[in-house]
Amino acid sequence: MGNRLPGAILFDMDDTIIAFGAVSMETWLRVCEYHVGDLPGWTAEQLVDGINSYREWFWSDPERHRLGRMNTINVRYEMVRGAFSRMGIYAPRVANLISEAYIEEHERRVHVFPGALETLQALNDKGVRLALLTNGNKTSQRGKINRFNLEPYFDYILVEEEFGLGKPHERVYLHALEVLGVQPPDAWIVGDNLEWEVAAPQRLGITAIWHDFTGKGLPDGSDIRPDRIIRSLPELLD
Ligand SMILES: [Mg+2]
Repeated sequence: MGNRLPGAILFDMDDTIIAFGAVSMETWLRVCEYHVGDLPGWTAEQLVDGINSYREWFWSDPERHRLGRMNTINVRYEMVRGAFSRMGIYAPRVANLISEAYIEEHERRVHVFPGALETLQALNDKGVRLALLTNGNKTSQRGKINRFNLEPYFDYILVEEEFGLGKPHERVYLHALEVLGVQPPDAWIVGDNLEWEVAAPQRLGITAIWHDFTGKGLPDGSDIRPDRIIRSLPELLD
């Protein structure tokens, strides 16, 4: 395609550089399989379906989402508690065990997407200025930045809790570009969230690249149109 690289690229972290939500379904299934024996009459698949529909409901509200991502540990307990309550399962001890197992197993499964670090390094080598814009609380987001040693690749890192505002607030994108000394028309943003990394930054004139890591394409009925869709970060260098 011959995409000329821009002066700066703003990167999302979770499910763009790091497989985070991307490993959550397999993790729920694994821990539900392990504990379903304590819940006679239920299958692991039913538990996962229940947790999944409760998760979708929980994260669908922007304000609940904002409060939830500020306390990621509590939220994991809430997912199982809330799902069980909707399903009419009264088993607080098992709910807690599943939540604890999920937290530990998910931590183990989180990983950097293949080729992501190599892509960041190649962009560094080509002189593209990079910023990392990540929503969430400081402990959990900085924990991942340190665990996967992401800091050296970025000229600027913005964590929602530290900055006091998160995506899709326009200050987040504009502040990052100001720090990098680049104007919106000379910037790309890359991420998996269609509101945070496509619609909102496009309104500011930033070129938006959607990271479709599942390969499922745009959701039915979505009127959001990314400037480009990629399945993996190395495609940025094509
Ligand atoms: Mg993301």
